[in-house]
Amino acid sequence: MRSPIKHCRNCGTSVVYRLPDDGDTRERAICPACATIHYENPLNVVGTLPYFGDRVLLCRRNIEPRWGKWTLPAGFMELGETAAQGAARETVEEAGAHFEMEELLSVLSVPRVGQVHLFWRARLLSDRFDPGPETIEARLFSEQDIPWDEIAFRTVRETLLRFFDDRRRGLQAVHTLDID
Ligand SMILES: [Zn+2]
Repeated sequence: MRSPIKHCRNCGTSVVYRLPDDGDTRERAICPACATIHYENPLNVVGTLPYFGDRVLLCRRNIEPRWGKWTLPAGFMELGETAAQGAARETVEEAGAHFEMEELLSVLSVPRVGQVHLFWRARLLSDRFDPGPETIEARLFSEQDIPWDEIAFRTVRETLLRFFDDRRRGLQAVHTLDID
């Protein structure tokens, strides 16, 4: 969870958390000096599930949290990009992969941390990777070799499970999940 706002972004005064006077039903960070209300809303994490034939690409994290664990390439969406552009950018930055973006695969709400994670299928055009500084190693795994106990995040695990399940059924669905 993000830390609470401490100071007004407009004038620097310490904010107080209280109900605004406009009928809003949630406490907000409000500046007692200039009355600016600072709204906090969930962030989008965007990424891909890159696949090459029967195998999928996982990246071993070189950053905290979950250093050394395996994940799909993903990160926070930036201003000025679409969700799919962000997912593609993260895949280039973290894995140095060559791929074609395909359809949306999963939408996972994680209210506990105020995030929504979105993953797209990405068809790899090459099995050669050039991982960036946030990745120790990028490599392909077949389903039976996936290190299920070493997956960094539940959203990644759930997305992988659904991808392989779709493959068995011969379909491509969009999966919507809520993660506690
Ligand atoms: Zn202020």
